[in-house]
Amino acid sequence: MAPAPDRAADAGLAPYACHEADSRGRVHAEPAPARYRTEYQRDRDRIVHSTAFRRLVYKTQVFVNHEGDLYRTRLTHSLEVAQIARSVSRALRLNETLCEAICLAHDLGHTPFGHAGQDALNECMRDHGGFEHNLQSLRVVDELEERYAEFAGLNLTYECREGILKHCSAKNAATLGELGRRFLERQQPPLEAQLANVADEIAYNNHDVDDGLRAGLVTCSELGGVKLFARHYEEVERRYPGIAERRLIHEVVRRMINEVVTDLIDATQVRIEAAHPADVAAVRALPQPLVGFSERVAAEHRELKRFLQERVYRHFRVVRMTTKAQRVVRELFRAYFDDLRLLPDEHRDSARRLETRHGTDGRARAVADYIAGMTDRYAILEHSRLYDPNVPQG
Ligand code: MG
Repeated sequence: MAPAPDRAADAGLAPYACHEADSRGRVHAEPAPARYRTEYQRDRDRIVHSTAFRRLVYKTQVFVNHEGDLYRTRLTHSLEVAQIARSVSRALRLNETLCEAICLAHDLGHTPFGHAGQDALNECMRDHGGFEHNLQSLRVVDELEERYAEFAGLNLTYECREGILKHCSAKNAATLGELGRRFLERQQPPLEAQLANVADEIAYNNHDVDDGLRAGLVTCSELGGVKLFARHYEEVERRYPGIAERRLIHEVVRRMINEVVTDLIDATQVRIEAAHPADVAAVRALPQPLVGFSERVAAEHRELKRFLQERVYRHFRVVRMTTKAQRVVRELFRAYFDDLRLLPDEHRDSARRLETRHGTDGRARAVADYIAGMTDRYAILEHSRLYDPNVPQG
């Protein structure tokens, strides 16, 4: 006899993986997906078809999109995160589809201009509940996407939503009911969510080496002070003397990723075996996350991260861009918040609606939603439409 469809979706998974049969389901009840799709596949597909996902292509990771076509954007970053997480997921027999969905959605709430934009918007929202990009990603999938006849948002499964909400302040967690409880009770999220988090870190640390070199912000010899880089650089140079720099860099970066991913799988496997969680509930109740590097690789990865912070993210060329970006975000916020008539109709309407319900905090939230949803180039264009008298209105 063929197994029930929900059990079939879970075939081959480890007992401590997220099983669809045990899913806490969706906020709005829906009929099961078509015969050939599972619930988590449906989550992933909804994310890929969302408007917020398409906007990621024009949102900055570190380098503003118009600086060059070859740098990572939030979209290519999200794809790299998903790809790393899928490999690890499969090796550990976790739920690869759920993990992929979480990764593809993890940056949906990001503002234009990367972290600079998020910091500026958080500053603007200081007296109105603040702005956290993780919480905003959840807000995008729960409320802001307008695609379905019967509900706002994408109506994703509980497990996908909790994975998207990677971090959250205690104050905000208290407003989220069941979903916020783990932050207050210091419980762990399922392994798929833990993995999405580490895959994010692996992706950006390694691709920012590549982008930083491409932009000329750092050189290979400067990176020679970073153990993880130096080890593979020396190996590639020894094996392929005289290799062209572009190939050399790729050979080094791919070896770095391979080393940390392999270590992540091995070290996590060791921890899983030691903790021996019987199911997801047991994973949640553990005092520490299980997904992580060995101590040696964790230290090397931290060293790389520190190098990038000092030499790339704080490079004067990056800082010039980020201060410009922050100015754009601040001035957009100020203009809209002070005069809602400057907003396009639908955003003005939601600002008035939220203001009626939550006072000026609601008004500010609607403005933040509008700005957070902008791509880099749209934010720049809007800024010039609002502040430059020579620029015509679109
Ligand atoms: Mg990310």
